[in-house]
Amino acid sequence: MNEKTVWETYTEEEKEKVFDFCEEYRTFLSKCKTERECVEEILKDVEAHGYRSLKSIRKEGKSLKAGDKVYVSIMGKTLALFHIGRKSMEEGMNILGAHIDSPRLDLKQNPLYEDGGQAMLETHYYGGIKKYQWVAMPLALHGVVAKKDDSVVKITLGEDALDPVVGISDLLPHLGKKQMEKKGSEVIEGEDLNILIGSIPLAGEEKEPVKKQILQLLKDKYNIEETDFISAELEAVPAGPARNYGLDESMLIGYGQDDRVCAYPSYKAMLELTDTEYTCVCLLVDKEEIGSVGATGMHSRFFENAVAEIMDAAGDYSELKVRRALQNSRMLSSDVSAAYDPNYPSVMERKNSAFFGKGLTFNKFTGSRGKSGSNDANAEYIARIRKVLDENNAAFQTAELGRVDEGGGGTIAYILANYGMEVIDCGVAVQNMHAPYEVTSKADVYEAFKGYQAFLKNMGGRKLI
Ligand code: MN
Ligand code: MN
Repeated sequence: MNEKTVWETYTEEEKEKVFDFCEEYRTFLSKCKTERECVEEILKDVEAHGYRSLKSIRKEGKSLKAGDKVYVSIMGKTLALFHIGRKSMEEGMNILGAHIDSPRLDLKQNPLYEDGGQAMLETHYYGGIKKYQWVAMPLALHGVVAKKDDSVVKITLGEDALDPVVGISDLLPHLGKKQMEKKGSEVIEGEDLNILIGSIPLAGEEKEPVKKQILQLLKDKYNIEETDFISAELEAVPAGPARNYGLDESMLIGYGQDDRVCAYPSYKAMLELTDTEYTCVCLLVDKEEIGSVGATGMHSRFFENAVAEIMDAAGDYSELKVRRALQNSRMLSSDVSAAYDPNYPSVMERKNSAFFGKGLTFNKFTGSRGKSGSNDANAEYIARIRKVLDENNAAFQTAELGRVDEGGGGTIAYILANYGMEVIDCGVAVQNMHAPYEVTSKADVYEAFKGYQAFLKNMGGRKLI
């Protein structure tokens, strides 16, 4: 096993490539803080690289052929990119998967109220967060308000340096004696994650004047009414850009790296493809953090349907062919792994930990306790991946998420594995996973990008049943 980091192997030229790639990633991370924003930004980029929506190809009555680049997007939150290969899709696809939703605080459907001369917003947290980490810090509001007239108002408040931010208060230590005696999970309770949004009363109003002032501002600025919150998706996220981290700037700190740190190099690897033997796919999904549920989560049939539609548009469709296409596929299901943390060595087992700077992390299995809930990848499949990565000089390491019985976690891998395809979990190691600001190594982000390219170009099929 390699004890060295990839930093020691880089030439000056390679180092420059790492920093350049990660600077673009940093911009993406600063800009895209919701699943919708990720889809929108990625579509802009891939369309500039020749990708077209399946809808528009259908409308023109065109059929798909090798070399075509096409995408299917569901509700603006989940996206599948296809680069059509020379072989029939029946022989399987090379699939890169990652998720683009991240833990955050969603506004409730009836959020606005006034208490003690302060206008407040009720939230409901999304995903597995340590609630005490989300108070006493600047938050931004991102999302959409859908109105009855079919218009959709986009909101991004708190990102521009001149924008105001919002936030959630915490108790002063002087009065926090009882609070500090509570268990960590109860120090801040879910129902207390209320956002302060204003404090000036509307002149001449007796009842809830501060709330009325905020409603007035919402009307003036966004042309929305209080009842429009009913059909809104507004997410409170940490405000401000991702930053370079460390005196040597070898790392990045930013919100939502779980799992955009895998989504970004995945779709960028697709753009590096020229022509391909097997159809290559990048699958960027929503709702992983709450169990991959809903129409835009991985448990939905959208991907299976998209594959059927693509095969149909390529004049290569039958029910059986779709099943074969899925079963014969190979997938890297990318999600973040826990990076070794010198502050918390007791939860790690060193020989099977992911370290910063050692490349893409492979998890043969995830899950908890006796591998419960995991997709345990096939040894022969792992051997083929090792070969491809080694031959293409992409650094990787293997790890488990912490010591046995310490905890655990899940990804989307097992859902795709239900088709009988070959799937393995891999991803970039992060520190502070699910905290408002997560940390990654730039070398790992870049090695992931290299590894994904090697996988797309070189993974071969296995024998059909
Ligand atoms: Mn994740
Ligand atoms: Mn997560």
